Amino acid sequence: MDKPIVAIVGRPNVGKSTFFNQIVGKRISIVDDQPGVTRDRIYADAEWLNRKFTLVDTGGLDTESDDELLVHIRRQVEIAIDTADVIIFLVDGQVGVTPADLQIANFLRKTRKPVVLAVNKIDNYEDESMVLEFYSLGLGEPIGISSIHKRGIGDLLDRVVKHLPDKEVEEEEDQIIKIAVVGRPNVGKSSLVNRILGEERVIVSDIPGTTRDAIDTLFEMEGKEYVIIDTAGIRRKSRINEALERYSVLRALAAIRRCDVALIMLDATQPVAEQDAKIAGLVHDEGKASVIVVNKWDLVEKDTYTMEEYKNRILQRLGFIAYAPMVFISAKTGQRVHRVLELVDEVYSRYTMRVSTGVLNDCISDAVAVAAPPSEKGRMLKIYYATQVSVKPPTFVLFVNDPELMHDSYQRYLENYLRKTFGLTGTPIRLLVRQRS
Ligand code: GDP
Ligand code: GDP
Repeated sequence: MDKPIVAIVGRPNVGKSTFFNQIVGKRISIVDDQPGVTRDRIYADAEWLNRKFTLVDTGGLDTESDDELLVHIRRQVEIAIDTADVIIFLVDGQVGVTPADLQIANFLRKTRKPVVLAVNKIDNYEDESMVLEFYSLGLGEPIGISSIHKRGIGDLLDRVVKHLPDKEVEEEEDQIIKIAVVGRPNVGKSSLVNRILGEERVIVSDIPGTTRDAIDTLFEMEGKEYVIIDTAGIRRKSRINEALERYSVLRALAAIRRCDVALIMLDATQPVAEQDAKIAGLVHDEGKASVIVVNKWDLVEKDTYTMEEYKNRILQRLGFIAYAPMVFISAKTGQRVHRVLELVDEVYSRYTMRVSTGVLNDCISDAVAVAAPPSEKGRMLKIYYATQVSVKPPTFVLFVNDPELMHDSYQRYLENYLRKTFGLTGTPIRLLVRQRS
């Protein structure tokens, strides 16, 4: 199930991270009286009235001049509009409406995404009248809350949840393979998208400030339909902050959530960075199929060993996703770009593979015969029965005598065994261990 994304926007110091922490329940981002304290966690899963969603804090930038603040705010709102299903606009009731609030409101009025206006720091009932002036932002009824005192948060979340999209709607598109192209800025995402689409619909340019509206691009190849997700987001080159890690990770998350296959792009001329690992980690954790695309291969001086060496070097950092096939391309010359789509088809077929229960149980018996399950205090793990419960990614349930006896290492062994037997390249596998009742 893809979880919807709820983004919090607002100028610095209105209480975004305090609010974020209250909802998420743990102090995971740093709150400080100083504006612009660096925060680590930028998104977290939350739940209200049985609706799960991911809450994203788009703030968190170092102190800036007023000019920079405006640019940053614009960027923050753009990101929220591109990535979120619902936007919470947080303002400060004690300070009142500021020019920056008006700016944000102007940007937000242009989107069709639902916006919930929350007036923070309404710490008690007497303060409620301070909410009224925020009607002037033209975003509907403001709701007074206090993040510190957990006041009004429930009412606010009721409103947010009402706007969350129904999950049923997307079914009809199911035949179409959805592709997300993810990676750090400048690895060549828009160049690749451009190549794939084979026309200049995608703008690649070093000129800053080219903007377009966000749309997914549908295309057809050899009778099959594909969608490239959020190419506008990829296309949009902003003057500033494009390189900000927070934004590229958020952008990647939103695209990954909606995709079947993620093309994880790396730049062959650069070492694998923390940010690459973060993005690849998201793809893996979200349970999506993937292909590692090493771009700018035209710039690399090659000898016979180079590709192998590269592979090994990359896997040192991205070992957790070693199941993803790797392809070395040049978006610039077009070298092996056709291979990228072949690999998309291949990993998609594994991602949606169904294994019959009989064959699956034969495989598990083989695995158990090759390496005996672990035992503890004289009790041995017994696997009675296995069955596949879903695809995207392939998910299997193992019914056992006692789930406690399943160790991580043995579970990994079984996963690898399944992967090898069924040729499950490019897709994560989920193994759920249940006690037989
Ligand atoms: P951010 O920059 O928007 O993420 O804001 P922070 O969450 O860092 O909060 C800025 C300041 O406002 C901190 O000193 C918080 O303690 C304070 N603050 C946050 N929420 C409330 C609230 O509901 N009431 C009051 N009185 N202060 C708050
Ligand atoms: P994005 O930020 O990931 O979308 O990256 P772009 O597609 O905008 O590319 C960033 C820069 O790298 C541009 O100047 C491209 O022309 C250049 N570039 C992209 N792909 C290649 C490639 O395969 N080879 C070379 N030499 N340059 C490339």
